[in-house]
Amino acid sequence: MPSVTVWNEYIHEREDDAVAEVYPDGIHAAIAAALDERGHETRTATLEEPEHGLTEAVLDDTDVLLWWGHIAHDEVDDSVVDRVVERVTEGMGLIVLHSAHASKPFTRLLGTPCDLTWREGDERERLWITDPGHAIVDGLGESIVIEETETYGEPFGIPEPDSLVFTSWFEGGEVFRSGCCYRRGRGKVFYFRPGHETYPIYHRDDIQQVLDNAVRWAAPSEGADAHGGNRNVDPPEST
Ligand code: ZN
Repeated sequence: MPSVTVWNEYIHEREDDAVAEVYPDGIHAAIAAALDERGHETRTATLEEPEHGLTEAVLDDTDVLLWWGHIAHDEVDDSVVDRVVERVTEGMGLIVLHSAHASKPFTRLLGTPCDLTWREGDERERLWITDPGHAIVDGLGESIVIEETETYGEPFGIPEPDSLVFTSWFEGGEVFRSGCCYRRGRGKVFYFRPGHETYPIYHRDDIQQVLDNAVRWAAPSEGADAHGGNRNVDPPEST
């Protein structure tokens, strides 16, 4: 099973009682427990730890990194971002959650602002599955309905996804590309929208199923021993 690290800035849960009620040990702990229950080897890391908990050793032992952030994107050290981006291009999977659309690793890897519109209206969301054969939706029905959530809307400033797995409809009329897959180098990247800190969304079985599937999908494959570089001194044989 893939080795998973769940990263969280871990600020709202410590500063806001309403959030602490939903996630008493932090969003990272809730997600890690869910993935652990589903058989993955999990650890957590947070902003306040040395090197944000993402040392060379931790990343070397991470097959898939999950990332939740919201109000402290700018506090993430660029040297740690460099390390994460490099590991993704080498094959580590990255799952970017909710407001981490504006996080440094995601915007660096995608190369666009990844901005969007949002509204806090406690409205209903239906995530339509728009790629039913994709491994990330294994075991789900035709859609996921969340009765109360924060609203996101298009335009979403991302490059065209390689696969668009979920498209959300919101009660207020907005639509949003909620499940987006990318390849960056050898690594796989998945953006998944649900997960505002004041709603118990990561406690839901269907959302945990998506995260479990996404970890399996994003885990590195062995791949080929083929690399670029100067071949002047050792040209491939001509046939
Ligand atoms: Zn939010």
